[in-house]
Amino acid sequence: MIPIEWSGEAYLTTPLDRSTTWPYEDGEPGEFTYARYSSPTVAEAERRLGELDGGIALLFASGMAASTAIVLTFLCPGHTVAHADGAYYGTGVMLDELARWGVRHTEFDQTGAPPAEADLVWIEAPSNPFLTMPDFEACTGHPSPVVCDATAATPVYVRPLDLGCDFVVHSATKFLAGHDDALVGVVVCKRPEDAAKLLEFRSRTGPVASADTAWMLLRGLSTLEVRVVRQTESATKIAARLQAHTAVATVRYAGFGGLLSFDVADAAAAGRLETSTRLIANMTSLGGVTSRIEARARWEGVRVPPGLLRLSVGLEDPDELWADLEQGLEKIS
Ligand code: PLP
Repeated sequence: MIPIEWSGEAYLTTPLDRSTTWPYEDGEPGEFTYARYSSPTVAEAERRLGELDGGIALLFASGMAASTAIVLTFLCPGHTVAHADGAYYGTGVMLDELARWGVRHTEFDQTGAPPAEADLVWIEAPSNPFLTMPDFEACTGHPSPVVCDATAATPVYVRPLDLGCDFVVHSATKFLAGHDDALVGVVVCKRPEDAAKLLEFRSRTGPVASADTAWMLLRGLSTLEVRVVRQTESATKIAARLQAHTAVATVRYAGFGGLLSFDVADAAAAGRLETSTRLIANMTSLGGVTSRIEARARWEGVRVPPGLLRLSVGLEDPDELWADLEQGLEKIS
């Protein structure tokens, strides 16, 4: 259980400090001096996230800013990242972008061991949108540092640092903030020396989250567990019903969390289904309180089956969600 409790302070919610600079104390910089380095609301969100994942957390302006910062802080030209195949396609796109700077990447099946030549291993728990889980023992047995993107699991279900990983990354835009109104990322480090290097990189290059965003994230975190438990219950029911439907070929679900994917016959059927739901929005992203569905081929091309639909289950009544999906499935049956 994640405790959601009053800390004993004189206030119940975290004060929002939008300052970008603070006075020196007796002519010396105090704990906070300039918001590009750190600020009170961001620091409070980091404290809470560090507690949740059991490490030292640093906030970034987005999930991709967090992932990019890991690569640029810890790798050099000529290094190779072994990246789980079927994991978030944007991570591969970011690694392609960094190829100009000499960072190579190769894909591997995260249900087994990473390739020997990797200087950094990048896994995802569970992968988005294929919902595979990494073999943590095989992956963390590799001598190089291991990053686990646990965006879809959240620390409620998976704490990668406890399983031997060196870094956890989350797109906190998703389940952690949880309401589709804050773009934010986090890296949680196992070792203080790694956190210090990453903080230095962030301070020098500037991709820190704003105080407002950190505050929205803190508010989202206060309901994280109840949201994801409810999303798991609903997603479990929906995955079983999809499995039994004749218009559905394959259902992928990790057994926890609100994210699942399934295949219908082809791209045309996927297009008809995603545009026929009314309660479930036709849009991208995941982890919000509103359920949404989308055909992933529009973004990922041939990397995914043409009929693959990704569904992020929100907090609506699961029977109403199923009724919405069922009427769409009838149209393509
Ligand atoms: N990691 C995963 C698993 C994601 O799904 C996403 C976004 O969809 C990201 C990282 C990137 O996060 P952001 O959109 O906050 O930059």
